[in-house]
Amino acid sequence: MRIAICPGSFDPVTNGHIDIFKRASLMFDEVIVGVFFNPNKGNPMFTVEQRVAMLKEATKDIPNIRIEAFSGLLNEYVKNEGAQVIVRGLRTLSDFEYEFQRALLIKKIDESIETVFMMTSVEHSYLSSSGMRELLNFGGDIAQFVPCSVKKMIYTYLNDKKQ
Ligand code: ADP
Repeated sequence: MRIAICPGSFDPVTNGHIDIFKRASLMFDEVIVGVFFNPNKGNPMFTVEQRVAMLKEATKDIPNIRIEAFSGLLNEYVKNEGAQVIVRGLRTLSDFEYEFQRALLIKKIDESIETVFMMTSVEHSYLSSSGMRELLNFGGDIAQFVPCSVKKMIYTYLNDKKQ
């Protein structure tokens, strides 16, 4: 069974992520979306539970996908899940530099794990979670950039946070 892991923070999920998941789901028997969280660091906009809930809602039509939270080393997570491949999306040259180093590091640690890159679809090439957070911080409208089913969850979670 060919299992791929799509790791990331997904804070929050965008249409760009969903596009990568859908395409990966056609190439592998199972795709596991690993929502990375660091219990000791960072100040995410959404909790890991909220990010997992949004991803589950947005991917409910993809039959061979599983959403999970993980922390710790990615190479260990890949092994524990019985996966062989890490799928990452590529948008810009700056993505490439970061991904190139990361892929080589993982290869050095565990030669059996392959990192596969999928080029963004042109209509999603400008989408990023950080862009969404910026819009949300300043009251912008993110409706066209995130899955329909997730939009309401985003605003509900943000309202809960304010109270
Ligand atoms: P990270 O927190 O590691 O930057 P993200 O949660 O932002 O990761 O994204 C997870 C994965 O989705 C990464 O491989 C990233 O390159 C990819 N990705 C994010 N946005 C897009 C997009 N618009 N098109 C294609 N891939 C994307």
